[in-house]
Amino acid sequence: MPKKKLATIWLGGCSGCHMSLLDIDERILDVVKLADIVKSPVVDGKELPDVDIALVEGSITSDEHHREILHIRKKAKTLIAFGDCAVMTNVTGMRNYFNLEEVVNTSYLNAVSNDGQGEMPSHPCLLKLNDKVVPLQEVVKVDFVIPGCPPDADTIFYVLFEFLNDRLPDLSKAKKLKYG
Ligand code: SF4
Repeated sequence: MPKKKLATIWLGGCSGCHMSLLDIDERILDVVKLADIVKSPVVDGKELPDVDIALVEGSITSDEHHREILHIRKKAKTLIAFGDCAVMTNVTGMRNYFNLEEVVNTSYLNAVSNDGQGEMPSHPCLLKLNDKVVPLQEVVKVDFVIPGCPPDADTIFYVLFEFLNDRLPDLSKAKKLKYG
């Protein structure tokens, strides 16, 4: 079987899902026998090529995330929502209970940690926050979800291993199977 191409991408999340991915430990060797990891925040920041599988952590919080997930959808045969922020906004979506101005003022201008008046970041390179945070499936078609905050390493490995062997994972079996 030819090697597949795998990407892992970090949008509006805390990186905890990627930390959990690293917890698959030596089983990464089983993954790289079957796939080349062509883009990942734990590898480098290359442009996203066409890939067989994209694991996407985090929700859509900004103009940049919106553009990025549309691009990922075009490039990935299988797009997996990776963790609860990607699936249902979770922690990232807690700001949806407030209006955006209130949120950024609290975070930057009036934060109790500020020594005096805070400043609003304004560099043109910075992304522009959307009014509301949304999960991936509100913008693109998602092919599979890995729930959890973060998902546990055994489940992540199970899902990856199944897709890399051209099988559809059954999450109800994830914890019962032993790999490696
Ligand atoms: S699902 Fe949890 S661990 Fe993953 S990015 Fe969101 S808050 Fe972090």
